[in-house]
Amino acid sequence: MSGQLFISLLNPGIGLLFATAFFLLWLNRRERYVAYAAGAYLATAIAFLIQDVAPVMPMELQRLPANMGFIATGALFAAAIIDRYRLPVPWRAMGVVAAISLTIFTWFLLGNPSIPARIYAISVGAGAIALMVVYALAPIDKPHLIDKLLFWVAALSAANLIIRPVVILTFSGGFDNYVGFQQSIYWTTVQFSQAMVSIVAAISLMVAVAIDMIAELRREADDDQLSGLLNRRGFEGAAGAALRRCIDEGRPAALLIADLDHFKRINDTHGHAVGDAIIAAFGAHVLSCSPAEAVAGRIGGEEFAILYPGAGVEAGRLLAEAVRTGLQAACGDRIPAKLCPTASIGLAVGIPGEGLSKLMRDADQALYEAKRTGRNRVRTFTPTVVPPAAIAG
Ligand code: GH3
Ligand code: MG
Ligand code: MG
Repeated sequence: MSGQLFISLLNPGIGLLFATAFFLLWLNRRERYVAYAAGAYLATAIAFLIQDVAPVMPMELQRLPANMGFIATGALFAAAIIDRYRLPVPWRAMGVVAAISLTIFTWFLLGNPSIPARIYAISVGAGAIALMVVYALAPIDKPHLIDKLLFWVAALSAANLIIRPVVILTFSGGFDNYVGFQQSIYWTTVQFSQAMVSIVAAISLMVAVAIDMIAELRREADDDQLSGLLNRRGFEGAAGAALRRCIDEGRPAALLIADLDHFKRINDTHGHAVGDAIIAAFGAHVLSCSPAEAVAGRIGGEEFAILYPGAGVEAGRLLAEAVRTGLQAACGDRIPAKLCPTASIGLAVGIPGEGLSKLMRDADQALYEAKRTGRNRVRTFTPTVVPPAAIAG
């Protein structure tokens, strides 16, 4: 294999490899941005094959589809990055840029042949598309290293595409003919720098896919599907962290534990599906009552906990009463009103130095009191005062 052919096969090879990889990832994840990435790599492979390996057509016409492929690569790659952030993909603007650069390209291919002018037309067009990614991503938060990396891949691609032709053409001069162009320093630089950008961009996007998958698994592991709240594990993690923040800031925190009354009877009489619908309704109701800062979870079958940072006894009681008294109305939307259960709620307010498990024990004890004294009520935990004599003794 000649050196020239090897270099020519470098980009199609990388393109096909990553197109396959992203396609396989897409089969698993069905995320649109992964499909765009697969499309971008397929387009780049085809474009480089037409440009470097396919036979030369009369009037070098094969260059038109090849450069359409280069522009399509840029647009699909831009779409992949932008769509990962659920931002609107500027298809229309990209279409306009693509149309302008391909029209200019065609003029300098057929009307007034000029290789440097064609290079500027395509390279600057692709650079403008990369700038659209920079523009879309610039204002948003970039919490992880990968977010910064994707942003910089786009910014460096834009710079590379816009500045590269100017610099290299200035130093290397023009090209006399097609063979001269293909063997030029310019085209070899494009092939190598494009291969490098391709690899860095693909690895960055693959890391992004992996990070998204881990985040989703973590969310799934912490969420309760039925109630739409956190599950016990998720609640303990999030509430523990929120409580530690309160302790650091010297703020109080209230913990509510709510348990549906006579729930077993509802299940036994009306079936499990009705029970499930009530749990779902209660979860939605808890979310709508709770302040944004609160952490809410379903910590058992029909038992729910809400940590309310910053709340003392009064604010805690207000929230508990809102949850209790609003339940009938909230449930009534989903199931016949007469099936809606009542709820008993235990409330405890943390004192500095006490962890979540102590607070949960206290709230549980208050809940027990609410059940014991007739259900459908809120009880607040009051610490038992140990008589000094008992300590002394
Ligand atoms: P109390 O007023 O004392 O709380 O009485 P209860 O019947 O609510 O209490 P108990 O703990 O005896 O029964 C809880 C019932 O909750 C038992 C079980 O059938 C039901 N349950 C637990 N998890 C689920 C669930 O995911 N879906 C449904 N439909 N029922 C559940
Ligand atoms: Mg119950
Ligand atoms: Mg229970």
